[in-house]
Amino acid sequence: MLELRGATVNYGNFSAVQQADISVEEGDIVVLLGANGAGKSTTFRAISGLVRLVSGEILFKGDSIDGKSPDKIVQMGIVQCAEDRKLFPQMSVEQNLMMGAYVHRKNKKQIRKSLEEVYELFPILYDKRTNFAHSLSGGQQQMLAIGRALMSKPKVMLLDEPSTGLAPLVVEQMFKSIQQINNNGTTILLAEQNAKVALSIATKGYVYENGSIAVEGKPKELFSNEKVRKAYLGA
Ligand code: ATP
Repeated sequence: MLELRGATVNYGNFSAVQQADISVEEGDIVVLLGANGAGKSTTFRAISGLVRLVSGEILFKGDSIDGKSPDKIVQMGIVQCAEDRKLFPQMSVEQNLMMGAYVHRKNKKQIRKSLEEVYELFPILYDKRTNFAHSLSGGQQQMLAIGRALMSKPKVMLLDEPSTGLAPLVVEQMFKSIQQINNNGTTILLAEQNAKVALSIATKGYVYENGSIAVEGKPKELFSNEKVRKAYLGA
């Protein structure tokens, strides 16, 4: 469904991602692991059209999406949920959700259906629908960021570090919701520091080191990989 072939991104003279090959099949939950600065967010930015590749290609359903604008990429069905959530703090929960539906702005029925689906997934957002986004807890803000992304009816959702700043119990609930979103038919590409929880729901993982993919495999293989265990699983 989504494929990166030899994807390379530079910031000036610095190469942040080198020759990345990633394959995401429909229905997958693929996790990108790696230390801070290893290149995960840059990979997401490239897929979302926010930075350009200097070489390689990105294919979505077999067609190249290189050079397409970020809003075109959202319209095609790839939506990113950034690490810093980028909510509109002075707008209500529901207004924030509606911002995610702009690609369907002519289809009111579709928007209402998506809104119901988001409220079903995160009932607390329904309870707080008239509250300002800034008044939500960290976990609720993350739900809102994910909910807003779902409003565009994505085929693939890119989730950058959804557990950042959340308490362990909240992280667990968040990952259950991510699995639910996947069960409902959205393919997921996830960047996470929290390797144990992420691999527990993943179908495949890639480990970044200094901009390159150092290890890849099924969660079982990564759990038993010495290097991965030492660096990311506290073994
Ligand atoms: P994090 O979890 O901290 O976001 P990451 O794995 O997502 O880490 P990236 O954000 O992709 O890593 O960063 C990869 C490298 O590119 C880092 O060395 C970072 O300092 C550098 N970098 C990121 N954005 C820019 C930019 N706009 N200009 C120059 N260098 C950048």
